[in-house]
Parts: sequence; C-alpha cells; structure tokens
Amino acid sequence: MNSHTISLYAAAIRHAILDHEADIECLDREIGDGDHYINMKRGCEVIAGMTDELTTLSASDALNKIGMKLLSTIGGASGPLFASFFMSMSKTLKGSETLNTLQMALAFEAGVQAIMQRGKAQAGEKTMLDVLIPVANTFKQMAEQDKSGQEIATALKQVASTGLESTRNMLATKGRASGLGERAIGHLDAGAKSCEVMIHAVCDAVLIS
Ligand code: ADP
Ligand code: MG
Repeated sequence: MNSHTISLYAAAIRHAILDHEADIECLDREIGDGDHYINMKRGCEVIAGMTDELTTLSASDALNKIGMKLLSTIGGASGPLFASFFMSMSKTLKGSETLNTLQMALAFEAGVQAIMQRGKAQAGEKTMLDVLIPVANTFKQMAEQDKSGQEIATALKQVASTGLESTRNMLATKGRASGLGERAIGHLDAGAKSCEVMIHAVCDAVLIS
C-alpha cells in the first residue's frame, strides 16, 4: 500500500457510501438523529478533493492529512472517531515506505484501538466498533498466518457483515441511541453499517486488483 492505493481505496469508499445513501440515512433516522449519511458523504467528498495532494505524500503522511481533514469537516460523534482512526494508523506507519500486509493489519488494529479510546467504548455497545473490532482481529490473525490479500479480503467482508448483523439485537450503551433503551433493539447501528460498506468497498478493490 502507498498513497496512490490510499486514494484508490478512498474513491471506492466514496462510491459505495453514495450507493448506500438510503440504508445509512434510514438507520440513523430510526435510532439516531438522521445525520450520519450526510456526515459520511461530507467526509468522502472532502477526501476526493485531496487526491492530487495525497498522491505526493508517503502513506503515513497521507493518512495523517486525511485524519486532520476529517476532524475539521465531519461533524457528529463519528468525525473525531474516524479522525483518530486515520491519525493513529499514520503514527503506526511512520517511517515505513512500501507497506506489507502485516504492517497494514497492525496499523488498522491501532486505528481501531484509537477509536475505542476516544469513544470510551468496547465491543457489544452497538456502535461501529462491532464491525471494526472483529475485522481488526481477523485481519491481524490472517496476516500473521501469511494468508494472501485475496483470502483476507474475502474473509473480512464476511466478518464485517456478521459484525453489522450482531448490532441488531444489542442494547446501545454509547452514542445517541443509548437513551432509547429497549427501543433500539431490532435496529442495526448506522455507524456499523457505514463501516461494513467501507470495508466491503476496500476488500472488493483488493479482490479485483
Ligand atoms: P452523531 O451520533 O453525533 O449524530 P453520527 O450520526 O455521524 O454522529 O455517528 C453515529 C455513529 O457513531 C453511531 O451509529 C455509532 O456507530 C458511532 N458512535 C457513536 N458514539 C460512539 C462511541 N462512543 N464509540 C464508538 N462509536 C460511536
Ligand atoms: Mg447522527
């Protein structure tokens, strides 16, 4: 992975988020305040506008730029969380030139840990972390076992979908939905949905490459 691949993944993510407008919007309307799609779209558009600049940077610097930009453009709870993810990935990859699969898996894990710290949340609280934590764990395990990019991408798509589905019957203990108690049961979490969509987009880009 380098900053060129990062821009390609960002373009794939933008397409996928725009394609899932209805689902994402509807989920945050049901148990949030309905702005999650707008927040995600704003983040995707601003990163798309940075493509030329990003490709001149190292992967680490590109990820840091993305994080800083997201911090100032995505609102809501999710903005600072995604910003922490990218800034922490950047820190982990500082000084590495071309990145291998294990380095990417470790950086992804560090990004997810940064979200946990920033949001003071764990698995099982009906948030994006119910997708991101199992994906990070499987990614690291498979990278350590030297599995191919194709095998990893196929497995991570499945893990992301299972993680998303697991939010359906959870009580929300973080974020806006936490005030709803039992009423949140039966609904998927919007942030978990957008993370599933983004992970599928990146994995599909790996699978066709
Ligand atoms: P807001 O909740 O401020 O309206 P968004 O709608 O953009 O912001 O994002 C909501 C999503 O953010 C939720 O669906 C959930 O996945 C995620 N989220 C909220 N709070 C936390 C937290 N403390 N830790 C992890 N994720 C969280
Ligand atoms: Mg919202």
